[in-house]
Amino acid sequence: MTSVPRGLALLRDPQLNKSTAFTEAEREALGLLGLLPEGIDSEETQIQRVHIQLSQKPNDLEKYIYLSQLQDTDETLFFRVLMSDPAQFLPIVYTPTVGEACLQFGHIMRRPKGLYISIKRKGRVREILRNWPNRDVRFIVVTSGQRILGLGDLGANGMGIPIGKLALYTACAGVPPQFTLPVLMDCGTNNESLLRDPLYLGLRQARPSVADLDEFVDEFITAVHDEFPDCCIQFEDWAGADAVRLLARYRDRTCCFNDDIQGTAAVALAGILGALRITGGKLSAQTFLFLGAGSAAIGIANLMTQAMALEGLAADKARERIWLFDISGLVESIRGDLADFQKPYAHPHSPTKDFAAAIESLKPTAIIGVSTVAKAFNQRVIETMARINRRPIIFPYSNPTSHSECTAEEAYRWSEGRAIFASGSPFPPVTLGNKTYIPGQGNNVYIFPAIGLAVYATRARRVTDEMFIAAARAVADQVTQSELDVGLIYPPQSTILNTELQAAERVAGVIFASKLATVPAPQDIAKFIRSQTYKPEYHPLL
Ligand code: NAD
Repeated sequence: MTSVPRGLALLRDPQLNKSTAFTEAEREALGLLGLLPEGIDSEETQIQRVHIQLSQKPNDLEKYIYLSQLQDTDETLFFRVLMSDPAQFLPIVYTPTVGEACLQFGHIMRRPKGLYISIKRKGRVREILRNWPNRDVRFIVVTSGQRILGLGDLGANGMGIPIGKLALYTACAGVPPQFTLPVLMDCGTNNESLLRDPLYLGLRQARPSVADLDEFVDEFITAVHDEFPDCCIQFEDWAGADAVRLLARYRDRTCCFNDDIQGTAAVALAGILGALRITGGKLSAQTFLFLGAGSAAIGIANLMTQAMALEGLAADKARERIWLFDISGLVESIRGDLADFQKPYAHPHSPTKDFAAAIESLKPTAIIGVSTVAKAFNQRVIETMARINRRPIIFPYSNPTSHSECTAEEAYRWSEGRAIFASGSPFPPVTLGNKTYIPGQGNNVYIFPAIGLAVYATRARRVTDEMFIAAARAVADQVTQSELDVGLIYPPQSTILNTELQAAERVAGVIFASKLATVPAPQDIAKFIRSQTYKPEYHPLL
């Protein structure tokens, strides 16, 4: 193989480096003698060494830093470690540890990853994209760093998010990492403490006007299209209004999606569909009452409407089954303070500011909390739901844990163990009498990697809501009966790769059926999807 680098250049290539596992023959032939200790590791011994080193780290941030360096030196080993135990490693390479890593970004930086495209370089975005060594980029995760998790404007520190998210595309669904590119659009920051920090690494200026931001993003989208024509762009952690506006502008023009909007809605839908596997009802026969009528509620409600429409219910009839309740009370048709996006869900009803009374009147089968108001699902609310429903569906989705509308323990106790529960933030198992319940967590990681793999494999031209609905259905279908029996409505993270592959197959089915693929439809989609996945294995270099 003529293109394989030799000696130190090979050891410094993270995609080809095998570190201590180079064979005797490779060491001889590729100029590695003397550059490595004589001992030759098996892949198992390498993993064992990583585990020992990780176990000696005092906290999760130190583990994150160690793994980040491993990704820089030996990418195959990095993914082998992650994929060996996803449930253990996801909270380290992504939430919650990635939040801490973003806060400390300028302080823990070792080697830069990805591309930083700063607004100072407006007019030169294409030139910057050309500096990326891989010319076949298929997946970009891009953030402006303005709304990082629940941490607000972190400017260039937000780069931790695209890096972490793309690691999950590979670790959870096998999207080949060589085709992925993390991008931070550095538009300055309004975060005063970062601007005062001498170690801050981003552009030291205030954020631009909406018009200037949009012009910059437009240049970026056009440049990506020209340089990487097969690329899908995922917007991540943009400020709420920017996220909605940019998705609306580009979703029908280019292959893109927003995980905060579409992925979040799909994971909530997956939870509802999982819960319906316990209650046995159809989606289009449910009545939903949301506490909160903001962007999360509307995103979930809109996707549920489409999913009910796919079951054959007319969209206006589907919306009649969805009710919202916000800080001013029930969203009903005579209220004069509603935003346009809320109006489709404003149905005739007498005004009320009493959530439990609204439950009594509307008789919802599910309540979904996206209000950020801790304890809003109080004993009266849950007891009312439990009186009306044999198995009440209770989803307090507000994050973080301190904002959750109720705890798992409260939902199970006040419903005498009958609640079907899932939350935005994780809760430990609950034991009532002689039964233990395992609460599910609606985590976007169930959805976006599957969408990514399907889009990558089919080279899809667009990402549609129908694809998210297919992913949600596939995830719900994979919860086993024994998991349902202990109250779990999402599959366990320990088997996430298999869950995502199955979901990716279903999403690819939708892509082929809707003629959005740009590769020929294979005979066997399952086999095709699996053939496209990355495996964290060293390849012979001779
Ligand atoms: P938002 O600010 O857009 O909306 C909040 C809504 O709650 C508003 O409609 C507001 O009127 C309402 N509200 C506030 N106080 C209230 C009260 N006392 N009674 C009734 N309603 C009240 O926020 P958002 O972006 O929609 O997010 C809401 C929450 O949902 C956040 O905590 C977010 O973390 C969470 N979320 C979780 C998931 C998930 O777990 N998968 C997904 C999306 C959002």
